[in-house]
Amino acid sequence: MPVFICPNCKERSIDLDGREGFGTQAVQCRSCAFGFLFQLLEDYYPAPSTGMVVCDAESRVLAVGRGVFELTGFREGDLIGRDVAEALAISDPGPLALVREWGVRQLGKSAAITTRAGIPKDVVLDLFPAYDDDGGMLVALSPGR
Ligand SMILES: [Zn+2]
Repeated sequence: MPVFICPNCKERSIDLDGREGFGTQAVQCRSCAFGFLFQLLEDYYPAPSTGMVVCDAESRVLAVGRGVFELTGFREGDLIGRDVAEALAISDPGPLALVREWGVRQLGKSAAITTRAGIPKDVVLDLFPAYDDDGGMLVALSPGR
């Protein structure tokens, strides 16, 4: 059963009534009204400190959720339209390429990013492919262990 997650407030909703995926109308988070829900094939429970970034099929940032600023120092306007691996200076972009090319999720990948202040920071990445026709990817960043 498809699960939808809001990249902003991380509220999960299960598509019980078929409402989320119905028609071509843009879906909206019922909890925070964020204009974007990401469909997951399997359920996922992000940590409270996790921040999520939604990318298009070319890895360009489409949407930035709550918590990303706290982790990276980047605000939405700093990231939108940029290549996510480049913008955050992700040390190992390999898993991102895997998600895009093979449509498989990658969980618990350790990497380093560089914050807006230029400080290296360890993070854990959970990466999910988009299942709609447009492709794309959800990047969930959590503080490193
Ligand atoms: Zn929401």
